[in-house]
Amino acid sequence: MPLNLAIVWEEFLKIIKEEVGSRIVETWFKAVTLSHWDTSKKIIYLEVPNAFTKQWVASHYTHLFQTHLGRLLHQESPAIVFVDVFSYPAKPLVVGVPVTLQDEQENKQESVAGPLATQQSAAKNKAPLNAEYLFENFVLGPSNELAHAAAQAVAAHPGVLYNPLFIYGNSGLGKTHLLHAIGNRIKATRKKITIMYQTADRFVHEFINAIRFDKIHFFEAKYKNIDVLLIDDIQFISNKEQTQEAFFHIFNALYDAQKQIVFTSDSFPRDIQGLAERLRSRLEGGMITDIQTPTLETKIAIVKKKAESHNQQLPDDVAYSIASCALHNIRELEGALIRVLAFASLTKQPITIAMIEKVLVKVKESKTMPVDLKHIAQSVASYYSVTIQDLRSIKRNKDLSLIRHIAMYLMKKMTPVSLTEIASFWRRKDHSTVIHAVDKIEKNIQKNNDFLLTLAEIERRINIHH
Ligand code: ADP
Ligand code: MG
Repeated sequence: MPLNLAIVWEEFLKIIKEEVGSRIVETWFKAVTLSHWDTSKKIIYLEVPNAFTKQWVASHYTHLFQTHLGRLLHQESPAIVFVDVFSYPAKPLVVGVPVTLQDEQENKQESVAGPLATQQSAAKNKAPLNAEYLFENFVLGPSNELAHAAAQAVAAHPGVLYNPLFIYGNSGLGKTHLLHAIGNRIKATRKKITIMYQTADRFVHEFINAIRFDKIHFFEAKYKNIDVLLIDDIQFISNKEQTQEAFFHIFNALYDAQKQIVFTSDSFPRDIQGLAERLRSRLEGGMITDIQTPTLETKIAIVKKKAESHNQQLPDDVAYSIASCALHNIRELEGALIRVLAFASLTKQPITIAMIEKVLVKVKESKTMPVDLKHIAQSVASYYSVTIQDLRSIKRNKDLSLIRHIAMYLMKKMTPVSLTEIASFWRRKDHSTVIHAVDKIEKNIQKNNDFLLTLAEIERRINIHH
């Protein structure tokens, strides 16, 4: 199972930076996108913004791609196919094109290195969708189910229901995943539809190149012939007035033709700085939905699902332990999981909580003895003027439950004790009680600043009397 391509690419850039220096990385490698890894044909597809970059990169750096990407993807000398984003979708580009440009177009065949040169046209008509980002492997939770439902509706009826669809949220929470999932679903169910996935960043670059090389008609024709346009991170179009202008026209043409448009962004349209008013109102004109920070349960489910895709079954306790290390961001969570899986497979050890702590948690600075559960329970109880017996009872009193949750949360936070042990301290059979408690408290913290101060005060008391 190949690791997530984004992670591979990040690793690759780090290695390359060592080898060729950051100036070359910025100039050339940052212009390239690792768009697809075809394991069966052993082809790595790299997207480049224009013919010039393609030629340069292909002739100077192919061996670096082969060596290092090959190593990261566990494939000795894979074939590298460079795909010029100008060349797809292929058809609209060729229509009505003057002869000279058509000639140039033919020179823009993918440069192929390594074996399997015959596969080159395969990538040509294909939008660079990441085949791993599917609805099927998107884990649902209260933080993302609305965005997911809207995305599914759009994939089922493109151009009909919500147009445009605008999905926003913080980094690493699944926006790009959903965008590709829409594309992949439509691609699988409607053969004749042309889908284009593009980041706004790349859109801006393409536009600038189009102007520079006098190919603005190509540029517009390419976008206006698309049935489904998926634009990732639209906030990157801010302050680019001319690009916004061009985009506005493309948007209108597609919208009038009832073509589906989907955007993602790191913020609500109104909060994107430097956006022309009329474009903003277009973005706001359809369905807007957000993705929020996942709950702990969702994070645990994601860890388990991702582990399964690497053929690993993780027990709840272990999954919890990973999920609670990297807070607030699923990309970090995946990174943490991959580190654990890699460590386990390198050392041929089973994955345990102790191992996770070794791999993920930084060595604790304080050399003090770990606080014990009873001491935490006692401190929390006396802060609220109740007794441990009250807290241990199964009374459903709202205040007592909250206090009990606080104690469980601090136990998890302040000690290395496992969930099961915490649960059994509270005479609960099931550690899911503790998970639930931690989740509740984390939510309260996010909602209410005073609550955080209260917790800090209790924690301080626990440490003083310890
Ligand atoms: P964003 O675009 O919001 O910054 P991404 O879509 O790139 O975030 O997500 C980061 C990583 O987390 C991706 O590898 C993605 O597959 C994964 N991910 C995010 N949300 C989910 C989810 N609900 N279920 C499974 N994986 C997810
Ligand atoms: Mg993204």
